[in-house]
Amino acid sequence: MWQIIGHEWAVELLRRSLVNGRSAQALLFAGPDGVGKTRLAWALAAALNCDANDPPCGRCRACGLVARRQHPDVLLVEPDGARLKIDQVRELQHTLSLSPVMGRQRVAILSQFESATREAANALLKTLEEPPPHATLVLTASDAELLLPTIVSRCRVMALRPVPVDTIAEALRTQKGVAAEQAQMLARLAGGRPGWALRVLEDDGLLAARGADLDLLEELVQAGRWERLDAAERLAKRDDLVDLLALWQVWWRDVQLAALGCRDLIVNLDRADAVTRAAGHLSAAEAARAVRGLARVRARLLRNVNARLALEAMLLQWQRAH
Ligand SMILES: [Zn+2]
Repeated sequence: MWQIIGHEWAVELLRRSLVNGRSAQALLFAGPDGVGKTRLAWALAAALNCDANDPPCGRCRACGLVARRQHPDVLLVEPDGARLKIDQVRELQHTLSLSPVMGRQRVAILSQFESATREAANALLKTLEEPPPHATLVLTASDAELLLPTIVSRCRVMALRPVPVDTIAEALRTQKGVAAEQAQMLARLAGGRPGWALRVLEDDGLLAARGADLDLLEELVQAGRWERLDAAERLAKRDDLVDLLALWQVWWRDVQLAALGCRDLIVNLDRADAVTRAAGHLSAAEAARAVRGLARVRARLLRNVNARLALEAMLLQWQRAH
């Protein structure tokens, strides 16, 4: 019962390595936000501590505790504020050095490891190279290229690709009881990220927020220099800036696809008109440059670059479509 949406190959690989007793002790799950990295990490943590023949069974005490995020041997380490810090790594190393309290394996899930400071990342190197025998470390990151190569080379890297629309739609129908049409629509908008679709089910305000963020983007594409500078100043203050940039990146990729004549591959179907309009004014190469520009800003934000300046440079680079 891995309960993972998509990523069948990854589940199969992890399952087999558990059966063979050759489970890696340092893993890196890479992929976009909401694609399912942390979910897979929790499932692996359950599997490592479950006693069933084909773990995780989803029914035993260990599986239950992991599902409720209460298993004493499974630790989640998230960025403290914007960064994951060296003190957090030191504390984790101390905990990992102790024998498990009730399970077989201590499992540490270090999420969004691209946010780790250089000191924190360097401090973890030794543990990744030689983890205590009863410890497994699972790092997650949106992109392996954002990590130090010395970190990546010590991990078994599993790159999770965006999940196909139909797979997400089916999971929403069968696991969440969502009506077929709604499931299909959400799956399309999710852009390959089942986690996003699941979050929308719990909070439909997210759907409205997405609409407002795309409205703003469509305005900015047609706007002049001063309006863009003004927007950069406002956007820099948002604490969900990384999510916003990810959303905009998908929209620009849609423009690129439309400019190449592949309208049927557009993700933001509800925005097909605006996407097609933009593609009428801009070339595929210009759209591709915008996609890369967004990725660059996302990477730079993690390095504490001045957000307003990075946004200004990015917005001013966009060709004006009007
Ligand atoms: Zn179990």
